[in-house]
Amino acid sequence: MKTILITGASRGIGAATALLAARQGYAVSINYHKNRSAAEAVAEQIIHNGGRAVAIHADITREPDILRLFSETERQLGTIYALVNNAGILEQQMRLEHLTMERMERIVKANLLGPMCCAREAVKRMSTKYGGRGGVIVNVSSIAAKTGSPNEYIDYAASKGGLDTFTVGLSKEVAAEGIRVNAVRPSLIYTDIHTDGGEAGRVDRIKERVPMRRGGHATEVAEAILWLISEKSSYTTGSFIDVSGGI
Ligand code: NAP
Repeated sequence: MKTILITGASRGIGAATALLAARQGYAVSINYHKNRSAAEAVAEQIIHNGGRAVAIHADITREPDILRLFSETERQLGTIYALVNNAGILEQQMRLEHLTMERMERIVKANLLGPMCCAREAVKRMSTKYGGRGGVIVNVSSIAAKTGSPNEYIDYAASKGGLDTFTVGLSKEVAAEGIRVNAVRPSLIYTDIHTDGGEAGRVDRIKERVPMRRGGHATEVAEAILWLISEKSSYTTGSFIDVSGGI
C-alpha cells in the first residue's frame, strides 16, 4: 500500500483528497494544524472503511514541525510515495496599502515557504539520487496565481504565483531522479477558506463570472490531485491542472 502525506487534510480540499486517496487504496497521513477533532474524524472514517490513516499535528510554517511530520508519517505508515502540499491560508480582503509586513510574512510562510520545506523533505526521501524509489509531489496552487486577485488579496495570489514557479523549477531539478512535480489550480471551491477571507458567501456572489456559472466542490479538485499522483499521469511533470470552471 503506497503512502500519501497530505498537509492541511482536516478540512476542505485536503480532507476530500484524503478520503478519495483512501478509496483508491492509499494509506494516508492527515496533517492538521488547529482542528484536531476534524482530522481525527477523517482518519476514523478511513479506518472504519477498512483503510489506513493517521492524523498528525504539525504547523507547516515551522521547520521542526515539518521534520516531525515526515518522520512520524514514515514511522506509522512507512515510505512516503506522494506529498500533497495542500495546506494554505488567506486573510481578510484588502488592498495593498493596508497590508502589514506581518500579514504578508504569514501568507508567504504558509503558502510558499512551508510547501517548499515539505517538498525538500519529500525529495530527500524519494530521490533515486539518495537511494529512494521515486515519488510524486502535487502542489495545491490557485487560479489566483494567474488572475492576481486585485482588491482582494494580492499577497495570497503572489504566494501562489511563487508556488507555480517553484513547481516548474523543482520538476526539472528532480525529473531524472524518479520524482514528478505538478500542481492543481482551483478557482472558486466551496470550503471554509472564504470565511477566513472575510466573505463566507464569496463563491455564490461571484460564481456567475465563472464560465461554467457555478462554484466547484472539493471532491472535483481531489480527483485531479489523485490523477496526478497515479500512474495514469506517468509522463506528466511540471504541469498544471486548472480546476476552475473555465476561468
Ligand atoms: P480550508 O478549508 O480553509 O482548509 C485549510 C486547511 O489547511 C485546513 O486543514 C488547515 O488545518 C490547514 N492549515 C492551515 N494552516 C496550516 C498550517 N500552518 N499548518 C498545517 N495546516 C494548516 O481551505 P481549502 O479551501 O480546502 O484550501 C486548500 C488549498 O486549496 C489551499 O492551499 C488553498 O489556497 C487552495 N485553494 C482553495 C480555493 C478555494 O476556493 N477553496 C481556491 C484556490 C486554491 P486546520 O483546520 O487543522 O487548522
